Amino acid sequence: MKNLKILFVLIVFTGITLISCNKKEQLKDYPIKPVELKSVKMTDKFWYPKIKTNHDVTIKTCINKLYSDGRIKNFKIAGGLERGHYQTNQPFNGPTYKVLEGVAYSIQTFPEDTLVEWMDTIIYYLSKAQEDDGYLYPARTIMGDSVFPHCGKKRWERLEEGSHELFNHGHMMEAAVAHYQATGKDNFLKIAKKAANMIYNTFGYGKLEKYPGHQEIELALVRMFRETNDQRYLDLAKFFLDVRGPDGAKNIQAHKKVVDQRRAVGHAVRAVYMYSAMTDVAALTNDISYIEAIKKIWEDIITGKFYITGGIGSSSRNEGFEEPYILPNMHSYCETCASIGNVYWNHRMFLYEGNAKYYDILERTLYNALLSGVSLRGNKFFYSNMLESHGQYERSPWFNVACCPTSMCRFIPSFPRYIYAQSKDRLFVNIYAASEATLTMDGQLIKIIQDSNYPWDGNIMITLEPEESRKFSLSMRIPNWARGKVVPSDLYTFKNESYPEISASVNGKSVSVDIEEGYLTITRTWEKGDQINLDIPMPIQIIQANENIVFDRNKVAIQKGPIVYCAEWPDNPGGKVLNLILDYKKKMTTEFREDLLGGVNVIHAKGYSTSRTLEGDTTISDIHNITLIPYYVWANRGPGEMRVWLATDKKGTIPAPAPTIAARSKVTASVESPTLFALNDQVYPENSILREIPGLYFSSNQKKTAWIQYNFDKTEKVKKIKTYWLNKNNFTIPESWDIQYINGTTWSSVDQKDTIHNQEDTYLEIDFTPIETNTLRFNFDMNDSDRMGILEWIVE
Ligand SMILES: [Zn+2]
Repeated sequence: MKNLKILFVLIVFTGITLISCNKKEQLKDYPIKPVELKSVKMTDKFWYPKIKTNHDVTIKTCINKLYSDGRIKNFKIAGGLERGHYQTNQPFNGPTYKVLEGVAYSIQTFPEDTLVEWMDTIIYYLSKAQEDDGYLYPARTIMGDSVFPHCGKKRWERLEEGSHELFNHGHMMEAAVAHYQATGKDNFLKIAKKAANMIYNTFGYGKLEKYPGHQEIELALVRMFRETNDQRYLDLAKFFLDVRGPDGAKNIQAHKKVVDQRRAVGHAVRAVYMYSAMTDVAALTNDISYIEAIKKIWEDIITGKFYITGGIGSSSRNEGFEEPYILPNMHSYCETCASIGNVYWNHRMFLYEGNAKYYDILERTLYNALLSGVSLRGNKFFYSNMLESHGQYERSPWFNVACCPTSMCRFIPSFPRYIYAQSKDRLFVNIYAASEATLTMDGQLIKIIQDSNYPWDGNIMITLEPEESRKFSLSMRIPNWARGKVVPSDLYTFKNESYPEISASVNGKSVSVDIEEGYLTITRTWEKGDQINLDIPMPIQIIQANENIVFDRNKVAIQKGPIVYCAEWPDNPGGKVLNLILDYKKKMTTEFREDLLGGVNVIHAKGYSTSRTLEGDTTISDIHNITLIPYYVWANRGPGEMRVWLATDKKGTIPAPAPTIAARSKVTASVESPTLFALNDQVYPENSILREIPGLYFSSNQKKTAWIQYNFDKTEKVKKIKTYWLNKNNFTIPESWDIQYINGTTWSSVDQKDTIHNQEDTYLEIDFTPIETNTLRFNFDMNDSDRMGILEWIVE
């Protein structure tokens, strides 16, 4: 018995030794691994210039803003290197960390000593700002008890509500790992470990059992675990997932235990960060209960909560998911960070399962909703990516909450790692882009060289150069659009009836194109110089939305290859596109325009335009040309109309306004706003649900009295005005007002007669004794309400 015990101890001991010797090899993890950034060199004309612009412009724009916002100064003050007050009005440090992470990726493509030195300077500030036990949160270090109320008086007190303490620490850790991998220097990683250890000592079962309001720490701890092999970090990542819910807020995905969730709800960025972390932890722990949950959530998204552009999260109220099919176009939200998070998550799902369907979603998001987040010059950004504009949307140089620009700054330079992946004896080509990559299989070097002009055409040439001849499988993704499927659900369908055939050859000898799990896989003994030609035809495709999406009824969208197209004002008659009817049955053609928007394919089509008449009818023009451009390049030529879902009959259009007095007027108001046009656009509301009707908004922190004004193009005789007010969700109709006009050279008030306003969702109509004037102003009281909004102002 005694001997048996000794033997048992010996076995266990030997086992432990073996495990610790080979820990890195023996880790459970994704069966498929990406070919990492450092092993991929871009040679293409699409992504390489974008990574270069990101390096030269976006990163530098972001760095300048970090200084001018006072974000860097906050670290210096917290570290005692400078004196002063906390500089910003929020506790977020994510922007600084995301820029550091972006720089760490970018210098792998464009080495630059000054950026390495810049990182070292910031890392020094961080080391000073970090408190002795590892806590790094300048807002509290500087302000102490008088920190912003939503941060809580004590550490972690308001973690679930909005302190973003773990969120900040998480982004710091991700940046530290990226910095270590890029430079081999551990100065940043040491700070990250100190923080991670402090968090491990603070949180856990039997310790502080809380979860963060904004997920991110989970992803970061997994990355820390992968880099350091410190099991505590993985355990802690799993803890933060498992401790979440079931009685918390739906908006932060804490309404149920994460493994019991089956629907995509709440804030979209938080959601996809959490789903990404669940995929990571599932891969590392073999806990398939996470996978069961997120696969259902994935289906929930692609069957009802996914835009044709790949954007997610259509509600501006909470930057989050709506009920299925609530996918408005003019108020589509689709935060840039949510698109980036959706790419992170689908990439992980692919690594877990090896099915190309995740890459089909990733690709749609990547080339459309995600890329639209940054201007072609790299210095302006969309926070929300709308699918329709009357001219009210433009990219901004920056935002007070600076997540989106800095997310872009870190995503773009990491792009090369999404092209290739490998498992034991299989090499995946997931994105087509001219590039060279080097990987190893069983220690043997294999070089893959890809030549293509994707996303503009689908001719792809791949050359393999294994060190020695070697048998393995080459799996090339055949995108679902090339196989007649928009998404793996009935949310969107192509109207095209037939498709050109996909063909492939190896060294000039054609091979049959059998597709399995979205891949054409060729298994053989590959020799140095073997050449594969793949031809994925890119017809112009016409997309129809599920009938349940009311916003897309009587409309189609156009796609060619992975790119979704839109009509924008500069390319179309009279600078208008909302009134276009696309005759999609007429032949459309493609032209590559080197000179336009950085070099893009445009689509030439035929169609008609609608206009209103003074009698209230809608007329349709003669047939004319319509030009479409890739959606991601819109809003690079000034504000104006844009539309992704194009009308197929007059019901789907917003006709050009009739030349009424209002339509011929110049609009001004007591607020500065890009939506002044809403008053006289003749987009007549049917109800006051705030979705697709543009409105002009007033908030109570402006003035107690507000006004709107028309300057007519000539003197007119008027006797009545009709205004349509939002009257739901805290919006109210004014209780008192005064209508003034310019009488000669002075303002006079009109002599009001009748007022009609009986019920919700109708016009407020005011009759007065007729006057002659060229300037009319409507002054109204703000009612002590938070917000007021006018959708239309008619003058008779
Ligand atoms: Zn964002």
